[in-house]
Amino acid sequence: MKKQAVRFDDTGLTCLIELLRGEGYEVIGPRKSGPAVRLARIESAADLTPGIDSETSPGRYRMAGAPDARIFGAGPAAESPKRYLHAPEARLAVAERENGAFRIIRDTPAAPKTALFGIRPCDVAGIARLDRVLLRDRYKDPDYEARREQTFIVAANCVRSSETCFCASMETGPRAASGFDIALTESVNGRREYLAEAGSTKGAAMLAQIKAEPAAADFVKASHAQCEAASAQQTRSVDYRRARKVILRNFEHRRWDAVGKRCLACGNCTMSCPTCFCVNTKDSSSPDLSHAERRRLWDSCFTQAFSYIHGGSVRTSTKSRYRQWLSHKLAHWQDQFGETGCVGCGRCITWCPAGIDITEEFAALDSSSQS
Ligand code: SF4
Ligand code: SF4
Repeated sequence: MKKQAVRFDDTGLTCLIELLRGEGYEVIGPRKSGPAVRLARIESAADLTPGIDSETSPGRYRMAGAPDARIFGAGPAAESPKRYLHAPEARLAVAERENGAFRIIRDTPAAPKTALFGIRPCDVAGIARLDRVLLRDRYKDPDYEARREQTFIVAANCVRSSETCFCASMETGPRAASGFDIALTESVNGRREYLAEAGSTKGAAMLAQIKAEPAAADFVKASHAQCEAASAQQTRSVDYRRARKVILRNFEHRRWDAVGKRCLACGNCTMSCPTCFCVNTKDSSSPDLSHAERRRLWDSCFTQAFSYIHGGSVRTSTKSRYRQWLSHKLAHWQDQFGETGCVGCGRCITWCPAGIDITEEFAALDSSSQS
């Protein structure tokens, strides 16, 4: 595919949203929703978030005025795009009773055409992680597959980092390298402009329909330099290459006791994480037993019931659940899938009510290894 890069202003951005809507996509982008920027349906560019920034720190999120009028200035939205691909609840099977027997009904609803608009590079990387697990492992998830096929991704490269971001160390941002149809990099020099780079044939075809000038090399360079500046702003990091060794060596480290006392086992970290994919199934039937359903629901390894097997739960303490979660994210996911389960979005730090910071926990294990 020929790499295509063009330059346009707000008119081009408006046109891109209209084109996506014209092709039947529901456009989901960052917009103000209550006290946070969330991913939700947008009708036009007017629904986006110009001049809004977000302040984040462990256990804290606030919307704030931005130093400029960027549309994509706020950091990662409160929730990741995971819910649009790996739905929080999905019907897996339906059975109807008929003449003393039952029959299974296939009624998989059509997947909606969805354009994820202005999602962050860490979230694009998160989707690639979900693809690996839900499409390219032993079992394919048909619901995820159907939704994924109907998804168009417009990434917004980050030109500012939030305090809790550490994508640079995870090599997943602040500029998306792959996994998008179009990547935008926003500039503000008197007026808003965008470098739009195609990452797929679909993206190139979409850009070809917008009245835009080809992006000159100096504009591309200046746009990308903003992402490098965002990378340099990040103060948190994880050395993921060493993570497996550090974690395996420290299974009995006293730090797990300390974090186990702070953790509330609420599961906020797993719900907000763009890569956590664990689910449970729930069966139900009508009172007259004529109809039964099996549904799949998001689950969290922080609940005691999650590890229940015959006779009881494997992980009865909060300490063991936190250890399982962090170890899977940074170490065992690498054994399973050849990459980490963390993309450095920082949401688990921001949205943890106890202010627990995965980078700090890993650093504590690393700096005082009990071998
Ligand atoms: S573990 Fe935390 S920082 Fe890493 S991807 Fe999940 S929510 Fe983001
Ligand atoms: S680490 Fe924080 S967000 Fe995750 S379960 Fe514990 S208290 Fe909740």
